[in-house]
Amino acid sequence: MEQRTEISTLGEFGLIEHLTKNFEIQNASSILGIGDDAAVIDHFGKQTVVTTDLLIEGIHFDLMYTPLKHLGYKSVIVNLSDIYAMNATPTQITISIAFSNRFSVEALSEFYEGIYAACEKYNVDLVGGDSSSSQKGFIISVTALGEVAPDKFVQRSTANKGDLICVSGDVGGAFLGLTLMQREKRIFLENPKIQPDLEGEDYIVGRLLKPEARKDIIDFFATNNITPTSMMDVSDGISSEILHLCKQSNLGCVIYEDKLPIHEKTRAAAFKFGLDPTVCALNGGEDYELIFTLKQEDYDKITLNEEIAVIGYMTELEDGCKLLTKGRNTFNITAQGWNAFTK
Ligand SMILES: [Mg+2]
Repeated sequence: MEQRTEISTLGEFGLIEHLTKNFEIQNASSILGIGDDAAVIDHFGKQTVVTTDLLIEGIHFDLMYTPLKHLGYKSVIVNLSDIYAMNATPTQITISIAFSNRFSVEALSEFYEGIYAACEKYNVDLVGGDSSSSQKGFIISVTALGEVAPDKFVQRSTANKGDLICVSGDVGGAFLGLTLMQREKRIFLENPKIQPDLEGEDYIVGRLLKPEARKDIIDFFATNNITPTSMMDVSDGISSEILHLCKQSNLGCVIYEDKLPIHEKTRAAAFKFGLDPTVCALNGGEDYELIFTLKQEDYDKITLNEEIAVIGYMTELEDGCKLLTKGRNTFNITAQGWNAFTK
């Protein structure tokens, strides 16, 4: 039988010490980490970027198909993604958790293993947090800090007419991973003897359970002297994000359906579920890619990077936000989702 240590055997401070004993400071800016009333951070003349996220069991994640280690990893990644979306480098995080007595020390340790892996990979220091019991379920709050050279941060509101709209990686995969996991959960609940069938679906399951933040894209910008004119991360789907960029920049846009970067495995899974891959790419969330706009003269600088796709361009506000389909039809992009194909 698996070992189960009750939280009460360690107490709150013992628990924090136990969970964070392997974390070592990696950034010179982390002057003082865990162990005092507050952390001390010195960003040495750079500007500080801060973001925070709340994740609630049953609302943002389902522990039936989310391993705790993956959940820990993803909790960090979603925050780092927001820091990169500002063109900044993440440096510190704080993690606060609340958990019911359903959770053992071993379970929380697994969760912290995921946090540790993300901190290691992205060179980020865990410098504080809080823990509490909850009556029901698991609640996670993560705050991430990052640094950026003075006034080099990139906002959503600063795109210009004619700018190219670009997306990193590919989109829609996490949504199909979620669709698959929800289907398998339903089948399992109806008949617990049936084992989940995830054969050949590693890609979309990975997109859902183990997303990465696009540090490589921010590094690429720095090396190639590129500053996007506006940027955000793709957490709610391309449609929703492009509408934010347009609204906040007071512009319209044209997006080309055939330019949307969709992985072949995502496309195959969409067809298997009877869904339109374009709809999944536009409306599916949680891909944690970056969407950004560039001056046209910077186009040559990005053609070498296969991880960046140009999907459209910014237009006048009066032109609205349009999707140009493969069949040369034009549709309005809406936040609720674009579902002209399913009508
Ligand atoms: Mg964001």
